[in-house]
Amino acid sequence: LTSADPRAAGVRTTCGYCGVGCTLDLVVRDGRIAAALPARDGPVNRGHACAKGRFAHGFLTSPERLTRPLVRRDGRLEPADWDEALAAVADGLRRAVDAGGPDAVAAISSARATNEENYLLQKFMRTVIGTNNIDNCSRLCHAPSAAGLTASFGLPGGTDTLEGIEQADCLLVVGANPVEAHPVVGARLLQRALRGAGLVVADPRAVGLARHADVHLRPRPGTNVALFHGIAHVLLAEGMTDEEFLRERAAGLDELRETLAAYPPERAAALTGVPAPHITAAARLYGRAERPAVVYGLGVTEHLHGTDGVRTLANLAILRGAVGTGRGFGINPLRGQNNVQGASDMGALPETLPGYGKVTDPGARSRAEAVWGTPVPGRPGLRIPQMFAAARAGELRALWVVGEDVTATDPDAGRVARALETCPFTVCSELFLSGTARRADVVLPAASWPEKDGTFTNFDRRVQRVRPALAPPGGARTDFWIVHAVAAALGADLGCPTPAAALEECGRVTGLFAGITHARLDEEGAVPWPCPDPRRPGRARLYTRRFATPDGRAHLSAAPYLPPGEQADDDYPLIMVTGRRLDHYNSGSMTRRGGNLLLAPADLLDLHPDDAARHGLRDGQPVLVESRHGRARLTARISDDVSPGQVFCAFHFPGSGVNRLTSGHTDTATSCPEYKVTAVRVDAHRTR
Ligand code: SF4
Repeated sequence: LTSADPRAAGVRTTCGYCGVGCTLDLVVRDGRIAAALPARDGPVNRGHACAKGRFAHGFLTSPERLTRPLVRRDGRLEPADWDEALAAVADGLRRAVDAGGPDAVAAISSARATNEENYLLQKFMRTVIGTNNIDNCSRLCHAPSAAGLTASFGLPGGTDTLEGIEQADCLLVVGANPVEAHPVVGARLLQRALRGAGLVVADPRAVGLARHADVHLRPRPGTNVALFHGIAHVLLAEGMTDEEFLRERAAGLDELRETLAAYPPERAAALTGVPAPHITAAARLYGRAERPAVVYGLGVTEHLHGTDGVRTLANLAILRGAVGTGRGFGINPLRGQNNVQGASDMGALPETLPGYGKVTDPGARSRAEAVWGTPVPGRPGLRIPQMFAAARAGELRALWVVGEDVTATDPDAGRVARALETCPFTVCSELFLSGTARRADVVLPAASWPEKDGTFTNFDRRVQRVRPALAPPGGARTDFWIVHAVAAALGADLGCPTPAAALEECGRVTGLFAGITHARLDEEGAVPWPCPDPRRPGRARLYTRRFATPDGRAHLSAAPYLPPGEQADDDYPLIMVTGRRLDHYNSGSMTRRGGNLLLAPADLLDLHPDDAARHGLRDGQPVLVESRHGRARLTARISDDVSPGQVFCAFHFPGSGVNRLTSGHTDTATSCPEYKVTAVRVDAHRTR
């Protein structure tokens, strides 16, 4: 079937895997997805999709799907009906509040859930429980983007659109592997480069785009800030800056100039391992372009100084006047999960309400209180790593995890598992009996994206419709239904009975979304935020005349380079970087249950041939990987895509235990884990 075939009339929805936001037409036959057709008029994908969106639907009808609630009795999870499960949840939450107050309860919302589900869960936590202890998995990936872009420009979103980026005459792609992790965007970037745009790739690995790059910079993991300062030094030294823009619309140049004096290319080269001529060449390519664009990924954010990384990368666009001027396409984060932008937009964060008003700001609180009709707590809540620490310390007494296998995806997973086991009451809403669900006191069977009604927001801030093609199996329910039901079990009514009503209510809390409704999206397909007026288009290009900072200026960062949390040493001589592979998605709970498993059946550890020879490892050989935090079993893949002294692996198979290796170091500003720098050692012999 192709989308032109009249038999292919499907349900139009948005892909629930990565943050690209491809439009798919789901064709249903006999209760199954018979085809997922990429829509030719899809605003982002234009008829394309990758192996995840196109084929990874087998999980929907997997016999392992949870179809009934489970309640722990005498230490065992046993099937229960919804009334029993909801009563158990209400009882567990009440007991936690009675014992420790509202702040003894926390919830982890999900970037896989819709905007409306995220909105409803944060409203539940703030208005029914009375705490700001609500966070979402953007904490583990793009929290530094939100913090860094806000500090630089005023709003926590990418500055431009994919269509804009495609007009760039130089692409600077940093810490991202879009060919695998965001394949439709990766293809469009590659097409742009093949049509003549300059391409600079900065990534320790030879990722797909690097083969086509004019310059490939391979910094040592954890040295981004030194690299960006080295490039900025050349921009300043060779007069490739936009002086008028810097004078009229930027702030912080003097401080930055002082910092950059210490980062000539030779010093940046010594810190990063990137040859000085390559740094200069990259700076000239970016600095001489008329319309440059920066695109970046988790290789910038998931560091001890990830927010500094985002801000010092943003410096380059500011120095060039390539943001908010029409003379370039700014700086644009590639969001990992389908709705990681939206989960934060909707206020599923401990420090901000829907639309990013701070919980500490009485004005922002009173706007929400006027809509919700109840007081909103003013003390910032716990971030995800703090939740686990509070559970281990006995201060957190109830935790609700929505659609997230934290035992597989969070760093230092052994400590996470201990936190769940220590917490007196845990609830997990899930598709499958994940490691997190197995440790829960109550498991609630949840619906997946092709079974949901609502919206997702993609990486360039486009809000798009999500429509149900299938009913959830058995007794599984949407998170929207579940949050309402838990509130009702506690005697509360959250209002907004439908997802459409929830988005409209959110628009009354924050002007960012006031002009976006389901009805409008059904008509127009996609609307970017900010969109305060239903009669006007959303703002695709985030800044034109003024930035959204208090003084209206773009703010340069003079943060110095600081080393990562871990270094290689004699005991742990290799630096491990984690990331995604093409055929799987995050913990793999969906993509491992279907044909994609045949495409990639295990997590692999990529080693440089020199390191493999040093450790006596052959391609395909089982390998034990150890860090200071834990151990994992993987399969060796010998590849010079990685540099000597570095290894790379994905985290799609929880059984391999990759995140038992990663450290508890987190970004100093946002608590985002440092997934990209873990010192490890490998051993071929102790696996037997
Ligand atoms: Fe598109 Fe991403 Fe879905 Fe692939 S996973 S089809 S690139 S949205």
